[in-house]
Parts: sequence; structure tokens; C-alpha cells
Amino acid sequence: MTGKGEGPAIGIDLGTTYSCAAVWQHDRVEIIPNDQGNRTTPSYVAFTDTERLIGDAAKNQVAMNPVNTVFDAKRLIGRRFSDPCVQSDTKLWPFKIIPDTADKPSIVVSFKGTEKKFAAEEISSMVLTKMKEIAEAYLGSTIRNAVITVPAYFNDSQRQATRDAGLIAGLNVLRIIVEPTAAAIAYGLDKMSNIKGNKKNVLIFDLGGGTFDVSLLTIEESYFDVKATTGDTHLGGEDFDNRMVSHFVQEFKRKHNKDISGNPRALRRLRTACERAKRTLSSAAQTSIEIDAFFEGIDFQSTITRPNFEEMNMDLFRKCIELVENCLKDSNIVKSSVHDIVLVGGSTRIPKVQQLMQEFFNGKELCKSINQDEAVAYGAAVQAAILGGAKGNEKIQDLVLVDVTPLSLGVNTEGDVMSIVIPRNTTIPTKKERGYTTSYANQAFVCFEVFEGERARATDNNLLGKVGLHGIPPAPVGVPKFNVCFDIDANGILNVSAEDEGTSQKKKITITYDKGRLSKEEIERMIKEAEKYKFEDEQHRKKVEAKIALEKYAYNIRNSLNDKKISDMLYPAEKKEVEDAIEHSLEWLQRNQLAQANEFEDNMKELEGIWNPIIAEIYQSGTRGGWDSMKDHNASYTASTSGTTGAGPRIEEVD
Ligand code: ADP
Ligand code: MG
Repeated sequence: MTGKGEGPAIGIDLGTTYSCAAVWQHDRVEIIPNDQGNRTTPSYVAFTDTERLIGDAAKNQVAMNPVNTVFDAKRLIGRRFSDPCVQSDTKLWPFKIIPDTADKPSIVVSFKGTEKKFAAEEISSMVLTKMKEIAEAYLGSTIRNAVITVPAYFNDSQRQATRDAGLIAGLNVLRIIVEPTAAAIAYGLDKMSNIKGNKKNVLIFDLGGGTFDVSLLTIEESYFDVKATTGDTHLGGEDFDNRMVSHFVQEFKRKHNKDISGNPRALRRLRTACERAKRTLSSAAQTSIEIDAFFEGIDFQSTITRPNFEEMNMDLFRKCIELVENCLKDSNIVKSSVHDIVLVGGSTRIPKVQQLMQEFFNGKELCKSINQDEAVAYGAAVQAAILGGAKGNEKIQDLVLVDVTPLSLGVNTEGDVMSIVIPRNTTIPTKKERGYTTSYANQAFVCFEVFEGERARATDNNLLGKVGLHGIPPAPVGVPKFNVCFDIDANGILNVSAEDEGTSQKKKITITYDKGRLSKEEIERMIKEAEKYKFEDEQHRKKVEAKIALEKYAYNIRNSLNDKKISDMLYPAEKKEVEDAIEHSLEWLQRNQLAQANEFEDNMKELEGIWNPIIAEIYQSGTRGGWDSMKDHNASYTASTSGTTGAGPRIEEVD
């Protein structure tokens, strides 16, 4: 959007299933509604024969176009194709994933009749572009700066890839922050105690659409410290939906002796209905499901009660509570020392989840005053305002942000032993150094393999990258000294350097992740493509508008001709000419649904060239019956001249 200058920095919660944008405005946070008026937007991108759809429009057509509707890109971002999570998720997705040469997953879709491949970063960038556009439309200005949130368990590669997605969307990513911290910031403004020594332990319970995240934070004097994070990458609202889907598939089998499980379209429609029913059950005790012509012409009709729904998901709810216990153990805090429990994520609206949490904390009140699915974006907007230099608000300027490393980071040493340089849950930004040496005499080359994870055997952990030092002068074993430095910046992005200390020729190599990460060239290419798609989306919109305008205009004229008052004022030959022209246009429209915008416009001009002069003469000169009789037909006249120049020579004659 070319608006009135650059707008404020915004916060974006880029969710697995739903995304949300917010902005600090008029001394408070405002959640930005999308073009449909919804405050969260599905993280969906769909490709069709004619256009690309993002958000609600994409999710709404998923049943008709499952293989080309992409969601869950957040489960792929920053991961390798061979990652076991990717392997198992791939089996569940209706869209196709293949490995590219660097073991990066590629999403394959058919777009405008040709096969296209997209990286997860590109799909996420499309969702971010949508969120950016939603904010631009709402604020009437161009948005450049944003804070984007990621789950607490995201490793460096995933954070980097999210940052890249922001870049591709044309955003300047001020900071990547983790979701529980953002939620804590959201509540920090409202609830935080400012008295020194009055330390608060806060537990963030985030149960969303696809992921579950528990974090323990301490807050003291506007200072947030993430003590521990635990989670499950595959536990959330969609799992509850799936349970309900299985339940109804069984029921349908029993009632009609038909198995719908092999029919993706029927399953999709059922899943959509189940999600809706689940939401209803958070406020009602019972709800019904109805799907017309569901399977082989049979309508689907059933009801479900809240206890029924709770029963089918109870093991999953209990699992959440177990993970809360783990998180408390990790952070060495007993539950009676937790001061506040914050509910985040749409699925924490489920009464049973709230009840189990409250019981676990011995009846303690839970924080849910900020809409659960908006709390993360809320906090991100506050953080964006701080980083974007929001003036005139002391509350905001006092806030400081601290994050931790979700996993231990280290290098592989002799015998496949993980040597930890930065332990998990270390507050970031951080910089740690460790010394290493050779493992045999006259070793000329050392390679430091950087791993993340908690396993003792290095290769059981996740390999992030390698730093090699060449040309080490011959020396006995254990004599050369290498300094390895891990440096994590405020965005949670890691740089590793290795230095040969013992010689005058000191070497220092810095690595950032290249595995699984996009190269500069790739990002640039994707930025260009993002612009191209944006341009194409716009062209498509213009085309549809031009088509509709032509159609509307043709029907308008036909309506005018059907009006006796007007048709009486036309010469017979003239009338025939107009009728033929309308007929010709409508027929042409029938045959050329996929024509270009300018073709529709040209056709419109032709039609206007015939009709405008006639109606103008009637309207302006009054020679055919006068001004008064034409008053009723203002509309058709206005429509006929809108936006084009094809007024024809006869208007000049009249003038
Ligand atoms: P994400 O996990 O992508 O960050 P959200 O936090 O917005 O997304 O959570 C989305 C999930 O919350 C979806 O599974 C949705 O069905 C669920 N949800 C939203 N509202 C309700 C509700 N009233 N009751 C139960 N579940 C809900
Ligand atoms: Mg979320």
C-alpha cells in the first residue's frame, strides 16, 4: 500500500494454525481485525488455477482444493526434510512435500496450471505479507517494522528461517521473541508489581491449534526472566478436532455401514464442522453437526455433548498437566510458589482445560483477562513499540526483555561426546567461550561440529553446522589451543567462531547456519518472487473488477432498454445497435472468462462508445423528452461513464 508514510512497528503472532497482528496506538494495544472482521487469520495459503489466496479465503476453500492448500508451514520452517518430525507430518498433509538438493523440504503445488515449489519460508512470508497488508489497510500507512513471535522450543535454525520469512515479506524484523515471553509482557503491563524484591513466578500455559508450550518466567521490577520452557510440538486444538472426526467416522460407519476415511473431501468437511462444534462446546453444553450431501448423497446429522467431547480428549488434557509438572521440575519451582498462571492459545478456552489447571494449582485463579488467542500478538505489539521507539509512554519504556536458550549448545569432542558450551535455559543474549585442543600428534586440521540438544552422545543431538581450522603447525597431542566462542544475540541467533590461539597466524572463522538456512541469493530470489506474486494478485483483482464492471454495465443498459420510458426515446436502428452490442458483450464474456483486464476494459469502451452518446444526448439536451423524465435513470448514466474515457464523439456535438 502506498499510504501516508511509514506507520508504527507492529507485533505479529505467526501461529501454526492462526496468526494475529497488533499495534500500540493511543496508549494501548489494539488487535488489528482482518478484511473479514476477524481478529485472527488462518495461516493458510491456497493456489488455484487463477489466483493465490491467503487467510480466511484460503481456509474456506480447503475442502474443494485440499492438495493445493498449504497450512502448517510453521511445522516445516527451519527443519530438514529428513527430520523425523517432517517425515511423520508429511504423511498427514494432503499437500505434497519433497526434499530439495540441500535436504530442505519443498512444498509442491499446482498454481495456474503449472507445478510450483515453495520453501516453508515462502509460505510463511505469504502469511506475513497478509498480516502486513491487514495492518496497512487498518492503519492507512506503510508497515516496515515488526516483531515476530516463535514458539519457545524453536531452535536457531527455525528462528533464522522465520526471520527470513519476514525479510521475504518486505518486513524489517526488529526482533524475534518467544511466544510465552510475549504473553508475559502482555500481562506485565496490567499486573506487574513494581516493588523491588517482590519477585513473581509466572507460569504461561499456551495451548493453541497445533502446539503446546509451558514456560516458567520470573518477573521482578519490569524484568522478565524465562526460567524454563517445555512443550509438545504436536498437541493442540487440531488433535481435539481429530478425535471428534474419528468419533463421527465411526458413528457414520455404524449407522450407514459406509467408511468415509478414504475420502479427503468428506474428511475435510467433517473436520471443519468439528472445529466449529468444539468452539461451541466451550460455551454450550451440547451442539449439533449437519453436513448436507456428506457422502454418497447421504446427509450427515449428529449431536455431541460437552462431557462426550471431554471424555474423548481427556488423555490429551492430562498430558498437558503432566508437561506443566515437568516444566516446574525443570525450573526448580514448587507449584505453591507460582504466583500467576497465564492462559494463552485458543484451546485454553476449553472449560475442562481450565478446570484441570485450576485443580492442579489447588484452586488458584487463572489469568485470562486478555483474549487467549490474542495475548501473544498483544505482547509482541508492546515489544515492537519499545523497539520502534514509542515515545511518551513510561510504562512501555521501563520494560526489559530477557529470553533463554531452549536447548543446550555444544561441540562434538573425541568419542562422540557432547561438550556443552551454553547450557539450556541460559539467559540470552549470551557469549561463552571454551578451550579445546588436538586429539592426536601433528594434527593439521580440526573440525568443530556444533550440536544442540540434551543427549550425551553428540551425534544423537541436532547438528547445526561445522567450523574447521586448517594449517595447524605440527605439535604434540594436547599442545595447540583452540578457543571456541558461542555468541547468541538478542534474537536468539547463534554465531560460532573458532580460533587457533597457539600460533602467530591466528584464524577466526564465524559460522551462521547454512544447513537448512536460505542463502542470500535464495532470499533475494524469494523477495523478487514475493513481489511478483503480489503484482499478480493485484492484476487478478483488477481483472475480476474489470470483468464485473463490464457485466454490470451490460445488464444496466439492458435494464434501461427494458424501461419503456427510455426505449421509446430511441430510434429503432439505434435500439437494435445497442441490443446487439449488449448481446455481443455478454456472449464474449461467456467465452472469455479468463481474459485480461485490458480486454474487459476495451470491451467496456466499445459498449460505452455506443451507449454513452445516446444516453448523454437524452440526458443533457432534453431533445428526446427532457431532463425530468431522466431523473430516475441517474444510476445507469453514472454507471455508464464511470472510470472510462470512451464517451464518444456525440457528447462533444451536444456540448
Ligand atoms: P495457534 O496455535 O496457531 O497459535 P491459536 O492460539 O489461535 O492458534 O489457537 C487456535 C486453536 O484454538 C484452534 O484449534 C481453534 O479451534 C481453537 N479455539 C479457538 N477458539 C476456541 C474455543 N472457543 N473453544 C475451543 N477451542 C477454540
Ligand atoms: Mg499461538
